[in-house]
Formats: sequence, C-alpha cells, structure tokens
Amino acid sequence: MKSEARAAVFVPHLGCPNDCVFCNQRAIAGVTSPATPEDVHLAAERVRSAGAQNAEIAFFGGSFTAIERGYMRSLLAAASEELKKGGFSGIRLSTRPDCVDDEVLDELKAAGVTVIELGAQSMRDAVLEKSGRGHTADDTRRASALIKAHGIRLGLQMMTGLPGDDDEGALYTANELVKLEPECVRIYPTVVLKNTALARMHERGEYVPQTVEEAVKLCMKLVRVFGAAGVKVIRLGLQRTESCESDVVAGAWHPAFGELVYGELKYEDMRRRFCESQPEKGGVYAVSCGKENVSVYVGQKRGNFLRLEAEFGIKMKTDLSGAYPEGSIRKL
Ligand code: SF4
Repeated sequence: MKSEARAAVFVPHLGCPNDCVFCNQRAIAGVTSPATPEDVHLAAERVRSAGAQNAEIAFFGGSFTAIERGYMRSLLAAASEELKKGGFSGIRLSTRPDCVDDEVLDELKAAGVTVIELGAQSMRDAVLEKSGRGHTADDTRRASALIKAHGIRLGLQMMTGLPGDDDEGALYTANELVKLEPECVRIYPTVVLKNTALARMHERGEYVPQTVEEAVKLCMKLVRVFGAAGVKVIRLGLQRTESCESDVVAGAWHPAFGELVYGELKYEDMRRRFCESQPEKGGVYAVSCGKENVSVYVGQKRGNFLRLEAEFGIKMKTDLSGAYPEGSIRKL
C-alpha cells in the first residue's frame, strides 16, 4: 500500500459568507449532506482495513477553520480518536488564509493536525478582489508564517486563469508562494462551473477562460518554478469527479490535466536531448521508464513519440526493464 494513502473527508462549506466567483458550494447546498464524525470514522476504518501505513486523515473542502466551530471540533475529535488508534501519521486540512489565528492553530495542533493547506489562489490583490475571494495576499503571508510558527507543515494552493490574471501574474504568484517556503503546492487552472458568478460573467462575455492548451503551457512554467525551489507540486488540475464532469461549462478542464503538463515537460526534455546529440536517422531509441510513467513519456495518443519520430526521423520505444536510469535514452 502506498504511503500517501488518505482517509479523505470532504467538508463542504455550506452557508459560506464569501463570494468566490468560481465556487459552486451555494449551488450544492441541500444536495450535499455535510460530513459527520461518523464519516471520519468510516473513512479511517476503510483505509486501515486496506492495510495502509502512515496514512493521513484529510479534510478537503477549503474552509475547515471557517465552518461552525462546534461542528469543526466534532470532526477534529473524531479524527484525533482515529489517530490514537494508530495507523495514521497525522491530520491534513485546507482552509482560507483569513481564517487562521493563534487560537485555532493551538487547537488544531493539539488535535494532531500536521499539515494545513491554504487556498492562496493568487498573490495579486486585484485578482483576489475580482475573484471575490475576500482576503488579500498579505493574509496568505501572515497565515503561512503563523502556521509554521505553530510547528505545522504548510501547503499552498494557487489558481491560474482567474479574472484579471495572466501568465505574468501566475508566475508572480508562484514566486511569492515559494518565498513562503511551503512543503507542497497544488495548482488549479480555473474551471467555470454551472451556477456560479463566473459562469454568468462568462455568459455575458466579461470573462474569457484559459483554454486547456494555454493552461498546460503556463503550468509547465509554474512546475519549473516550484521544482527549482524544491517545492513539491502534489496536484495539478481539479480531481475528476462525477459532479465535475457534469458541471463544467468552460475553462481549462481535462480529466488528466496533470498528465498533460508532465507529458509536455517530458516531451520538451527528450526533444532537447535529441537536439543536443543529434540521433541517427532511422535509428530506434528507447527511453527507460517505470510502468506508472509510460503515459507521460509516450504522451496522450502517443503524441510525444509521434512528434519526436517526425522531427528526427527515428523510432521511439519504451524500456520498462528497470535496467537503466529513469528517463535515460539509448539507441537500440
Ligand atoms: S471557495 Fe470561496 S465561496 Fe466557496 S466555500 Fe470556499 S471561501 Fe466560500
């Protein structure tokens, strides 16, 4: 069992007073029933009985410390109980940068919270304002420092393609997030969901979403920024869910978005190496990779290999033998 196994509990913020333009939580009010402490126990039990080691109990939903305090404590207490039973390494949760203070962090730390992810989304105040986030870049800076000061590990989340943002803004955000020294980040290209303010802006022609191609190109640069700083990118693009599939009306949505980005990065890397050491025309070349990475080397619909074959007049294969270092290319 993989060490990153998680007992994941989704905590929708029904009745959230904020107005993030991309959010459809109001629309799902009454459709989604809030997670209960029992759900936490069930999720933990499922992961435990699957034999996971060092798993996390993870509360997703974006506003954990902004939900009603009694409800938050009931979920935390259930997670703490599960931690004590063993098999879990800690509790991960995500929240808003303006909903973090000493008091709540003391409480979270005592309950066993080990990682907090902040929804920074952008470090440009104008973008945050146009997106209705209700917090500033300085809130993210302040909350990040506070989380670290409490000995809790920091994760940060950013979005691309928000209203008023552009590639330069996203790169600025990435560089500002790096300065906060998170251990990990998630990058979410903006997706226009049904029944959101963003969908209405899009309908009125006031908002032009990124295309998948534009978002892929930009995210490649962002991945490089984080990679150079030693910050792990643990998610690229929204998780595929049934509601996602049916609620997306526009924007950079692709069920395997991360694979598109990593596939393009691999393509660029292989191409650069062939440019440097001109391959022999008609030659057959093998790239060594693990089974789980085949699709990013080969590309969607074999696109990476097809492009290399066309440009250099070669034949590409994968070598899954494990006899050579990952990513190395040799002539057969
Ligand atoms: S994304 Fe914004 S509006 Fe939606 S639940 Fe989170 S804070 Fe509230």
